[in-house]
Amino acid sequence: MPGTNLTRDEAATRAAILAVESYTIDLDLTVSDKVFESTTVIRFSCSEPGASTFADLVDATIHEVTLNGRALDPSEVYRDSRITLDGLEADNELRVFCELPYSHTGEGLHRFVDPADGRVYLYSQFEVPDARRVYTTFEQPDLKSTFTFNVTAPEGWKVVSNSPSPAPEALDEGKAIWRFEPTKRMSTYITALVAGEYHEVQHTYVGKHGEIPLGHYCRQSLVEFLDVDELVKITEQGFAFFEEAFDFPYPFGKYDQLYVPEYNMGAMENAGCITLRDEYLPRSRQPRSFYEFRCSVILHEMAHMWFGDLVTMKWWDDLWLNESFAEWACYHAEVEATEFTDSWTGFANARKQTGYRQDQLPSTHPIAADNHDLQAVEVNFDMITYAKGASVLKQLVAWVGLEDFQAGLQQYFKDFAYGNSEFSDLLAALEKSSGRELGGWAQEWLQTAGVNTLTAEFETDADGRYSSLAVRQCAHPDWPTLRRHRIGVGLYDAVPNSQGEDRLVRRQYVEIDVEGELTEIPELVGAQQPDLLLLNDSDLTYAKIRLDQRSLATVVNGLSKLDDSLARALVWGAAWDMTRDAEMRASDFVALVLRNIGAETDSWGVSRIPTYAAQAVNHFSAKANRPQLRAEWERGLRDLLAAAEPGSDHQLTFARSYAGIAHSDAAIADLEALLDGSLTFDGLAVDQDLRWVLLTSLAAAGVAGDDRIDEELGRDHTISGQEHAAAARAARPDAEAKATAWEAAITKTDTPNETQRSIILSFQRPGQDDVLAPYVEHYLTAADDIWERLGTQRASTALEFIFPRQLASPELLERVDAWLESSPANPAAKRYVREGRADVARALAAQARDAVD
Ligand SMILES: [Zn+2]
Repeated sequence: MPGTNLTRDEAATRAAILAVESYTIDLDLTVSDKVFESTTVIRFSCSEPGASTFADLVDATIHEVTLNGRALDPSEVYRDSRITLDGLEADNELRVFCELPYSHTGEGLHRFVDPADGRVYLYSQFEVPDARRVYTTFEQPDLKSTFTFNVTAPEGWKVVSNSPSPAPEALDEGKAIWRFEPTKRMSTYITALVAGEYHEVQHTYVGKHGEIPLGHYCRQSLVEFLDVDELVKITEQGFAFFEEAFDFPYPFGKYDQLYVPEYNMGAMENAGCITLRDEYLPRSRQPRSFYEFRCSVILHEMAHMWFGDLVTMKWWDDLWLNESFAEWACYHAEVEATEFTDSWTGFANARKQTGYRQDQLPSTHPIAADNHDLQAVEVNFDMITYAKGASVLKQLVAWVGLEDFQAGLQQYFKDFAYGNSEFSDLLAALEKSSGRELGGWAQEWLQTAGVNTLTAEFETDADGRYSSLAVRQCAHPDWPTLRRHRIGVGLYDAVPNSQGEDRLVRRQYVEIDVEGELTEIPELVGAQQPDLLLLNDSDLTYAKIRLDQRSLATVVNGLSKLDDSLARALVWGAAWDMTRDAEMRASDFVALVLRNIGAETDSWGVSRIPTYAAQAVNHFSAKANRPQLRAEWERGLRDLLAAAEPGSDHQLTFARSYAGIAHSDAAIADLEALLDGSLTFDGLAVDQDLRWVLLTSLAAAGVAGDDRIDEELGRDHTISGQEHAAAARAARPDAEAKATAWEAAITKTDTPNETQRSIILSFQRPGQDDVLAPYVEHYLTAADDIWERLGTQRASTALEFIFPRQLASPELLERVDAWLESSPANPAAKRYVREGRADVARALAAQARDAVD
């Protein structure tokens, strides 16, 4: 059995004979700053006395293992992260006493010392299989149990877990012990422990089923940024909405939200003990899209309390359902219960695009992936699972109707509370509530991969009316499934408003079912051809759409004349897809953005679309056109920045984007002047985070060196400052700076996860081809064994984001192909390399398209 893997079959075998009654877990966090002590007592029954099984534990120094009073020799029974348990009785007690290391990768029990004040903070992160890095477990979601934690820690710390925090009992030597009440029955991966010198604020939510204590926690150095009133407001809106919509009281008593440092993901749905990355407590000005996203994260985790924590997947095959549901539910709740009423537009502009992108990589997979073991789960934890899954659930809601969907869901929670279920159980509940057969729908949407493309095919008569109109559906040859789509079709014309300004106004809208290769739309035959024909109007389905020539001309000249933000999002998305697919010139996409972004009103549209344009400039433009396009993008952003409303999100986004492209002498001088205060824009605060953006761009341009970065770090003695400084150094265009950054991010094994990520995201820069050239070979050499050396989290970050996309060329493709043939790297590592290769191939095709006038 290789290392820490666990197969679905092994888990099923173990679940077939075991039932777990309780865990009692004693943790001593006062041993040292490197390790902690962990004592686990598991009481469980076995339906086949005499049988064998195993418990899970990773990286432990075991002092003692006792099974039913029998002492076992750790050197004999502990191997490959498992403890072999032979000769089980009907009722068993396993006791394991061991020492375990603190983590610096955000997996297991992470330990962090705040450089701002030297205070210590710990938090656990267990999904997918990492509870076994903190205590002895049966690490699979369907062996639910109760958990009793007893935690010894320095007195004065806060200690938080799934049960309410008890008053600590004082011990000697400045220590105390927190004895928690047993939890409700739950899976190991949603148990949690957060401990340290955290700041705590308590509120109480009074809802239809009674009171829920609400705790908010953060580091002491972030207290001034904890906008707790806003966070409590969103939390209360969420509880009011979900308790009503799910018709089931919140199951876990209290609800703590803890903002923690160096966190890998957005947040984690530990039952009643939510951990969130503490970048969500911003110290600097952020655009509305930031707050909209934070709100969606808070609601996503809350939805998991029911869907995931109360009713839990049997095995990770249904991970997609867990995440897709929480994702769909959070946008739905955001629209229905918070101030972010147009969140589905933001979803279309940003999140959904990540699903389309992932679905067109060679590594794409069906939403319902075959997660036969834990390695497969880790690989499939991607945007197919989140963004595509949520889009497809949105289509399912359109298919069965919201009311029936909700009724089925309510019954499902009642039927499976505190237990485990599979997707078929939910589908059966929805079939019952809606009276519709859903097996066929599930087959074509969930068990096949790839995205369809919808194109209008039409002819017009002498008067410009449609004499025929149909939707052609196609698919990539590797993923040939055609699906049934419920879509809207909108016809928009330019019509002068009362001030005599042209607006694009919807004249007609129909909803149709698309099926097979060609779907006629007889309802629209005879209609005058509009200025803009928009397929998938209302964004009901998940598909790429194409714009016909006339529609494209209409939007390039005046997308901002279209008042509906969701319709605009579909147009932005269609144009971006056409650019990525080499059907629209990168230069034309950049022109579209420069002409129309100033009038975009959706918060995600404003902040995300300029990043697409930057990608078009730096990756998709023909090499011959690139200098000119870079100059146009730089100049255009300078003009947009100057024209933006003082204090607006537009102004902030254009300032960041301008810094991102700045390369001419004039632009570099602007950045310097913004930093020293000699250039100002009314309403634009050059706060600490914007200072780092400006300085990093100067570093990338070769203008600011180590001395200036050190000086800035002197002003900003925080972990955020250290991460920004590491990123700025990695951006510098000289061989020594790149070598140092590479060493920290790829070679060393003790660089903290978030610092490593900052370096990696900053390393590959446009305009630095010479200094980056040696890193093709360095990358491929590192990729051979990086997974084993750095572990899942840091290896995947490195392989994905430090791939030399910047150096796209046919030679690079050839070199990567040869590596893929010969490298001993494991499939998970090769997946990321294959994805990088696909991005390069796509960029080369787009560059060729851009070269043709
Ligand atoms: Zn989730």
